[in-house]
Order: sequence, then C-alpha cells, then structure tokens
Amino acid sequence: MRQNLHTHSTYCDGKNSIRDMIETAIEKKFDILGFSGHGYMPLDNCSMSVENTRKYIAEVTAMKEEYKDRLTIFLGVEQDVLNRVMVKEPFDFIIGSCHEMIHEGQILPIDYNRGIMEFMTDVWYGGDFRVLAKEYYTMIRKMKEWDEVDIVGHLDLITKYNEDESFISFTDPAYIKEACDTVDALKDKIFEVNTGAIARGYRKTPYPHISLLKYMKEKDVRICLNSDCHNMDDLDCFYNESLEMIRACGFKSMSVLGEDWFYEEDIDSFF
Ligand SMILES: [Zn+2]
Ligand SMILES: [Zn+2]
Repeated sequence: MRQNLHTHSTYCDGKNSIRDMIETAIEKKFDILGFSGHGYMPLDNCSMSVENTRKYIAEVTAMKEEYKDRLTIFLGVEQDVLNRVMVKEPFDFIIGSCHEMIHEGQILPIDYNRGIMEFMTDVWYGGDFRVLAKEYYTMIRKMKEWDEVDIVGHLDLITKYNEDESFISFTDPAYIKEACDTVDALKDKIFEVNTGAIARGYRKTPYPHISLLKYMKEKDVRICLNSDCHNMDDLDCFYNESLEMIRACGFKSMSVLGEDWFYEEDIDSFF
C-alpha cells in the first residue's frame, strides 16, 4: 500500500500539472493519490483562485474516471484555519492547516523563512516562543468543532526552523503541553506525518517531532503518511525513513482513504 493525500499542483503553488502528478504516482507504484490544493484565501498567491478552484475540481474529477483502472484518485483541499470551507461537498477529504499568525490585525506566514519567525517571536511575542506556540496551537484546536476536517496538516509547522532548537527546546514542558493538549483535543481526527519540508531542504526529519509522534501512539491517535508534495519527483520523499520511524514508535496501522471512508490498514502493508 502506498498513499499520498497531501499534494499540490500548478492550480496553487505546486510545480506540476495534475496529469504529471498522476503519471508519476503510477510510476512510483502508488495505490492512492489525493490532491489537496490550497483552499482559496484572499490576497494569498499560494492558494487557488476562485477560478482555479473551479477548474481544479473539474480536472481532478475527470482524471478520477480516466485513471480509475490504474490509480485511485481523491479530490481534497488543504483548508487554512483562517479561511474555513465549512462544506465538504464536492471534496472527498479536507486537510486542516494553519500557515500564519495574526497579531493586532497583521498576518505573517510561519513557514516562509527563519527571519519572519524570529521577527514574530521577538517583536510580537516578547522574545518568548512559548507565547507564539500557545497562540498557534489554540488556533489549531479550533478545528475540534470543525467536522469537515479529516486530517490535521503538519501539526507542529511552527518548528520548521527549529531543528537546531534555536527557538525552543523540544522537551520544554510548556511547549510540549500545548502540543499534546492539541493532540488530545483533536484525537478523533487523523494526524499526518508530513515530509514536505525535507524535500525542500528545510529539515531532515518530518513533522511531527518524534516525541509528539510517540505521544500520538500512546493516545492511540490515527495517522497517515503524506509528502505535502509540490514537485512530482518528491511524491515519495523520505517515505522509507518515515515508515521506519512510524514502526519504531509502535504504530500497528495507518489510515487509508477508501471509497466509503477512512479505514485502518496494517502497517506491514505499507512500503
Ligand atoms: Zn500546508
Ligand atoms: Zn500543503
């Protein structure tokens, strides 16, 4: 079993067409490919415009039929917490993510570069990353009431530039509490192990941090593996290493999207 439900195409900020992504998925022996274009956000040029959203839905829907004997394709969307879609139709699944912080009417991205994270930590949050983390995880926890969200996207995205622990120690009790409280609050949803930042050279390990992944196992939370793919060559980026990590944490299964709904597939079926 090979699945990727977090992929971007030229309809948003991805490099490749829907068809090229599909052909690559078939070459790389994927069983399931889900598209999750960035849901429309005004003034955000990484997201799909209203016009592109319409075309995206039409193209993915047509491709599902065209490729149905070779690949199972799902139509999804990556919805930002700042712009809730609310209605699932016509999507098969929805990823809920938070990509920015808001402070006194200003919005800044958390995943753009290290400098912006430093600015926000120092100027907006008085030099205390814990304050930033508390606000970020509070925003993520709003999704508890949002039934349309199936998958929680890159849970600890705020640590994108923190592999060297220059913003916060991964064992900081206040930080860990915020992150673990978020896992508890959203435990009925599926959390993804996301390798996207590795493909783009920002990190050497996937989200979430191994300590959070272990906590998810402890709490019997469902997970899936995605590459948050913006370039078809990275469709299976760091999949083998991540699977090893997931198995080492003790997970016995991962969630797979079927025709009806998500189900659990034995961890040994994945490659
Ligand atoms: Zn994202
Ligand atoms: Zn994404």
